Amino acid sequence: GAEATLFRALDATLTPMGKRLLRSWMLRPSIDAGEIQARLDAVEAMSAATIEREQLRQPLDGVLDIERLLSRVTLESANPRDLLALAASLARVPQVRQALAGFGGARLQELHQSLDELSDVRQQIATTLAPEPPLTFSDGGVIAPGIDAGLDELRDLSHNSRQHILAIEQRERQRTGIGSLKVKFNSVFGYYIEISKANQHLAPADYERKQTLVNAERFTTSELKQYESKVLDAQEKIVELERKIFAELRAAVAAQARRIRQTALALAQLDVLASFAHLAAHRGYTRPRFDDSGEIELMEARHPVVELQSLSGAARFVPNDLFLNSATHSLLLLTGPNMGGKSTYLRQAALMVIMAQMGCFVPARSARLGAVDRIFTRIGASDNLARGRSTFMVEMTETAVILNSATPRSLILLDEMGRGTSTFDGLALAWAAVEHIQAHTRAKTLFATHYHELTELADRLPGVKNFQVTVSDTPAGIVFLRKVEPGAASRSYGIEVAKLAGLPPLRLAIAAERSPGVSTSVSAIGPATGSHSSAGTRTAGTASSNAPIDRAPAATRPTISAMASAEESPARVQLTMFTPLSQRIIDRLRAVEVEKLTPLEALNLLHDLKQSLN
Ligand code: ATP
Repeated sequence: GAEATLFRALDATLTPMGKRLLRSWMLRPSIDAGEIQARLDAVEAMSAATIEREQLRQPLDGVLDIERLLSRVTLESANPRDLLALAASLARVPQVRQALAGFGGARLQELHQSLDELSDVRQQIATTLAPEPPLTFSDGGVIAPGIDAGLDELRDLSHNSRQHILAIEQRERQRTGIGSLKVKFNSVFGYYIEISKANQHLAPADYERKQTLVNAERFTTSELKQYESKVLDAQEKIVELERKIFAELRAAVAAQARRIRQTALALAQLDVLASFAHLAAHRGYTRPRFDDSGEIELMEARHPVVELQSLSGAARFVPNDLFLNSATHSLLLLTGPNMGGKSTYLRQAALMVIMAQMGCFVPARSARLGAVDRIFTRIGASDNLARGRSTFMVEMTETAVILNSATPRSLILLDEMGRGTSTFDGLALAWAAVEHIQAHTRAKTLFATHYHELTELADRLPGVKNFQVTVSDTPAGIVFLRKVEPGAASRSYGIEVAKLAGLPPLRLAIAAERSPGVSTSVSAIGPATGSHSSAGTRTAGTASSNAPIDRAPAATRPTISAMASAEESPARVQLTMFTPLSQRIIDRLRAVEVEKLTPLEALNLLHDLKQSLN
């Protein structure tokens, strides 16, 4: 979900620009050691100084998207309120600069230099625009008084029209002797003099009839007409003049775009670095150390997102160590029960690398690594039917990209591989991929698998090591310990986990598994080396002898139905090894009376059978 993402977990930024930069750093972590160190230095300085950091963050809170406002200015689509918003956001810069002055360190000082207080621009905006301008120009009132003498004069004319009209009304009442005479305005007829029907005979000769109502007569005069056009002209001119003054102001601000943009970028960077420092201080993240050893060493590392979920109620997150190098530990094969935490462990490693290379502290007791050039992942199952790719084809295409493009500086995560095809094809592919990575790619690789046969590779290839996620098998059921330890697991506890999920027929299968007669064969599911199991922790399953891949393990494996039948029915059912097609071939062969066939018929039969097989 949108909540459980690395972005959400790390987003403590306060400005829209900071959010955008955080996303961009996350999508493109740095591979430049100097840049990473500079960011980390800044985060370290700010994480240690709580009060100063808060003094810096506080004015950032409420800064609007200066970059977006600026682009509206340069595209000439900014309205007066946009300019005021820009000025208000820029008004926070002096406070930010002041707070920043207290910090040492090259990056923070650089940012201090880049922050331009832009007081000239702010002042120009604040003095030119009315403090609360209307949304549209048509009503006027956008530009502050005192900015343009012509505008002020027109406004006087327009605003004083009420008094002027009252004066005319007064004069005409006296001239005509009609006490109820009124001078009015409406947008259709403009200015007019209204006289009641009873008094209309008193209307002077210079009154021009304009409109007749039931009870009243409306007139105009040449004086009123002139005045009307002057006032209406004035209003039009006001709008025109205000637009012009505003366009000049917008152009003046646009002329300072470089300074404003530079300040916006500096604010964004400060926001992200200060939010990293905030996270470091509040979540106990540590500074990752970078070196050229080409190793990745994480001690007591936690998954940044899952850890947060577990803080809010679920079980406590169990930290784990990880060591990868290019010689002895370049490919870790991770086995263990379903739901054990393999995927979490894999992703945790990649997220830590991304965070470290973003310049963020990481959730671990310590972290040491050489910068990784790319992270490749083969995770989950998806298809792309519209583009002609089945689930397995997508999986293989992704794997091909990984095998062809990874370098010794890359990190590869393979979370299951070869699951979308037959067991032995899949196993063979997974086996081949491991060998290829070891022989050619040399990328540091984490490979989670339920193909326990693969663990044998640790004995054959020097860079491959087995690790397992531990589980405790109690009478009440399995308990996930979530601890990653050296050694290979021999079981996946799929049946137990499926039972936890509520799959109905498993009661039978589990009963069968518990039955003494079957338990020995259950432990034979999947060979394991057992040689790396650490003492003290109960590891999954019972270790059995090493089984080479080319030995057909299926022959030794009981199926669930076989286990069930051991429990439930005395007569064991032999499941056929053959598909319906091969069964037809067998039936035909059975029916053949070989001694009655001519050589030609025999040849034809052989040909037919071959055809069916193909
Ligand atoms: P499967 O083989 O079935 O895919 P998995 O071994 O990959 O399982 P995950 O998906 O990694 O198992 O983990 C299962 C659940 O266990 C996760 O959803 C997570 O909440 C929890 N979990 C994993 N690792 C830890 C940990 N170190 N501490 C606490 N909880 C964890």
